[in-house]
Amino acid sequence: MTTIEIEPGRLFIGGQWREAADGARTEVVDPSRGVVVTTVAEAGAADVDAAVRAAREAFDSGAWSGLSGRERGRILHRVAQLIRENADEIARLESLDVGKPISLCHAVDVTNAANDYEYFAALAHTLDGAVRDTPMNALAYTKREPLGVVAAITPFNFPLILAGSKIGPALAAGNTVVHKPADETPLSALYMARLLTEAGVPDGVVNVVTGTGPVAGEALLRHHGVDKVAFTGSTAIGRHVAGTAGEGLKPVTVELGGNAAHIVFEDADLEKAVGAIIKAFVFNTGQFCMGGPRLLVSRPVHTTLLGILADAVPGVPVGDPRDPGTVVGPMAGEKHLKKVEEYVDLARKEGGRIVCGGERLDLDGYYYKPTVIADLSNDSRVVQEEIFGPVLTVQPFDTEDEAVALANSTPYGLASGIQTSNLARAHRIADRLQAGIVWINDWAMLDPAVPFGGVKDSGFGREYGPEALAAYTRVKSVVVSLG
Ligand code: NAD
Repeated sequence: MTTIEIEPGRLFIGGQWREAADGARTEVVDPSRGVVVTTVAEAGAADVDAAVRAAREAFDSGAWSGLSGRERGRILHRVAQLIRENADEIARLESLDVGKPISLCHAVDVTNAANDYEYFAALAHTLDGAVRDTPMNALAYTKREPLGVVAAITPFNFPLILAGSKIGPALAAGNTVVHKPADETPLSALYMARLLTEAGVPDGVVNVVTGTGPVAGEALLRHHGVDKVAFTGSTAIGRHVAGTAGEGLKPVTVELGGNAAHIVFEDADLEKAVGAIIKAFVFNTGQFCMGGPRLLVSRPVHTTLLGILADAVPGVPVGDPRDPGTVVGPMAGEKHLKKVEEYVDLARKEGGRIVCGGERLDLDGYYYKPTVIADLSNDSRVVQEEIFGPVLTVQPFDTEDEAVALANSTPYGLASGIQTSNLARAHRIADRLQAGIVWINDWAMLDPAVPFGGVKDSGFGREYGPEALAAYTRVKSVVVSLG
């Protein structure tokens, strides 16, 4: 077994590093080799309770909520700076934990996380209220308040970014947080606990409980001391999370699964579009909620585009995430690899034609070749369900109406994309797509100023933008008699 030094692999509660109350620990596997690289504490309900109490105490003390927005912003700026200063170590951890190519960790995970903290740092002092014009003999004004203790529950695929997309706005607004990272990928959350403390975030303001969903996640979700639940993960768990938070009358945001359509019209620049098409389905080894695994192609260019993809996709560098030239690393875990294998087998049974890929790589880790599948019907499970791997299905269409109908035909609605040189058509189709974000002539253009989130089974609420900050506050009205 190869071990690595990851200090300290314990829970972070009230500014202290602790073992779980019952001493339980869980293994962390490097998916590029399939070996255990370290262990972390596995929180039980008692540990979650301690974390929520610490967050409550920190909130009530005013040590964070009592700071001005500008002071909180200054500390969040320092967090962003520390992320940049420690970029190599964070990228190494994220790559080891998730199997992401190291170049992607630098260019996307670390860079975006720093940008996100910086963005919310800048927004921290924009939480103004308004004076309202009324016929009363009174001064009526509104102000925004933090909610209290936020439960942040995050998935395995972008551990650093999706933690920051919740902790950033939650802290900017003056809340305190208990973060439960995904069972499989806890390392960057523990590292960030250290950086947040170093930046000046007071003890108890951010707490990290590593552990499983059914035990630690469930305890956090149901805890009476939690004032808001911010969840990113699968639609199945998200439905349960939203229902449970609803019963507890807690505000909740759920960012869930996706299965986006990427529509290519005959007037698109195909040579340029092919880069976006490949990026859309192989980015993060296809473990991207906003990936584009369903390609819809105008019939006159369908065969030509399939030919271009058959030539280009096998050339995408797949392999060791430590190699700076690698574009596609392994799947993040064995169960994710098996799921992709099962879906590609199902595609064969459903009448799909494997254009390229269609098998795992002959390596020790959990690698799967980027795969393109044609000839599936729209109601096949492989088209309708979220595979969450480097698999692209390709379907032809004849009219704009048909393209829109196919794009909107799954239960999901997170992202969508259009390739066209016709500006009017681009806007016309964007209006009709059921998705939280629509990209035109590229894919995955993301920035903390641009909100994203789902419609339909992809959830509700928005991350990023001022909309995200607002979701971590509530409005209080104050009416002062002038009589
Ligand atoms: P998941 O739903 O299995 O787990 C997400 C988190 O929920 C984990 O921390 C898990 O431990 C926890 N959890 C599980 N059961 C729980 C319970 N009963 N109570 C409370 N918490 C519980 O998701 P995953 O496999 O880690 O992530 C992949 C999914 O996330 C995909 O569906 C993907 O599309 C989605 N995702 C969505 C977005 C978005 O912004 N919409 C972003 C990334 C990933």
